[in-house]
Amino acid sequence: MKHRIVILGAGYAGASAAGRLARRLHADDVDVTLVNAEPDFVERVRLHQVAAGQELRQRPLRDVLAGTGATLRVARVTAVDVDRRTVALTAAAGADGVGSAGSSDELGYDTLVYALGSSLDRRGVPGVAEHAYDVAGRPGALRLRERLGELAPGGRVVVVGGGLTGVEAVSEIAEARGDLEVALAVRGGLGDWLSPAGQRHLRATFGRLGVAVHEHAHVEQVGAAEVLTRDGAAIPADVTVWTAGFAVHPIAAATALEVSESGQIVVDDTMRSVSHPDVYAVGDAALADGPLGTPLRMSCASGIPMAWQAADSVVARLTGGKLPNMPLGYVHQCISLGRHDAVIQLVTADDRAKPAAPSGRLAAGYKELVCASAAFMVAHPLPYPARRRRLVIVGERRQSRSRPASNASTR
Ligand SMILES: Cc1cc2nc3c(=O)[nH]c(=O)nc-3n(C[C@H](O)[C@H](O)[C@H](O)COP(=O)(O)OP(=O)(O)OC[C@H]3O[C@@H](n4cnc5c(N)ncnc54)[C@H](O)[C@@H]3O)c2cc1C
Repeated sequence: MKHRIVILGAGYAGASAAGRLARRLHADDVDVTLVNAEPDFVERVRLHQVAAGQELRQRPLRDVLAGTGATLRVARVTAVDVDRRTVALTAAAGADGVGSAGSSDELGYDTLVYALGSSLDRRGVPGVAEHAYDVAGRPGALRLRERLGELAPGGRVVVVGGGLTGVEAVSEIAEARGDLEVALAVRGGLGDWLSPAGQRHLRATFGRLGVAVHEHAHVEQVGAAEVLTRDGAAIPADVTVWTAGFAVHPIAAATALEVSESGQIVVDDTMRSVSHPDVYAVGDAALADGPLGTPLRMSCASGIPMAWQAADSVVARLTGGKLPNMPLGYVHQCISLGRHDAVIQLVTADDRAKPAAPSGRLAAGYKELVCASAAFMVAHPLPYPARRRRLVIVGERRQSRSRPASNASTR
């Protein structure tokens, strides 16, 4: 019987893991199935561009997986049962792979790679769920695009959140719609995680783009026409874009898997669940330590190497090979500031700003290259030709069940 590898989620992490696994294992020994709610690979790092009116290249997952032997199931994952080793699926409207829309199915696995990513965290602040727009997923970005299209000149847009996504979103909107009044509300100081050079460039760019910055603005409520801050200020907003926080899918927390407070699956340095050795987790859905023991941040910069590490670890364990040791540290944070400007903040391996932060047109070209390379790497997760290896572990299912909960002794 073939070993069944199921990968949930075809974002940067899941699609990379699926392609790499299928390219490295012999098709006679394994079935590799990638489950995703949409038939396309979505370049999530460009969704602020979508919101600002740009069209992205369509990337059907069938093309991404072409030639690998992996199978695509277009369906929504509704639950995982880690004791029975099954995944519950529901057909998305118009999806193939499960049946008619709304019908359900169950998929068994021997090895699971969980990569369902994250979405906007709408909890906690009143009014966000009702009134705020977002760029965290494609449907949200398209909705925001439509709303921005309805705004007449002088319309007021407030982006809440001074992290990477907020900065990129506000720049993109301000550049595309110079006729709008665009503002950014940040809880601390603008770009206070950047080096002084990076912060100076950010301020200069926002000045050029006409972005009003509300610093130390702790937003406590979002209304239909304004956002309210803790110190009693009301910032007028015809459109509020919420970027202050991402949350993971609650599916993992509903299982017996060990998860963090935020619901991310806790994994070891091979990306394997610390509680269930037949489950791996990668990308935003996983909590993994970086080089100095600090958790990796939710990013595709972490998600792709995590996927390689997970895939190569699965291959090593199934084929009796050596466990990999992928470097999971950071080099830079690449922040687009519209289409013609960017800051490349150089960072330490554990993501702290170094003094250098090149910026401007060349930096924008570099950031564009980084985004294009990320999509290229998803479709080419194994940059060298590799022999498809045969499994040496016969009866892996039985062996995994009898392994100890911690993997420390199995490396
Ligand atoms: C606007 C924006 C800009 C960003 N810019 C950068 C950047 O410049 N650099 C950087 O490193 N990071 C950036 N990020 C963060 C980065 O996009 C994420 O960290 C990355 O996408 C995480 O990859 P992932 O594979 O874990 O999850 P995702 O890319 O979110 O993929 C998850 C996949 O799972 C699918 N899925 C979810 N739930 C289900 C379900 N129930 N059933 C079936 N399928 C499901 C989704 O459809 C999706 O295909 C940005 C994010 C945003 C929103």
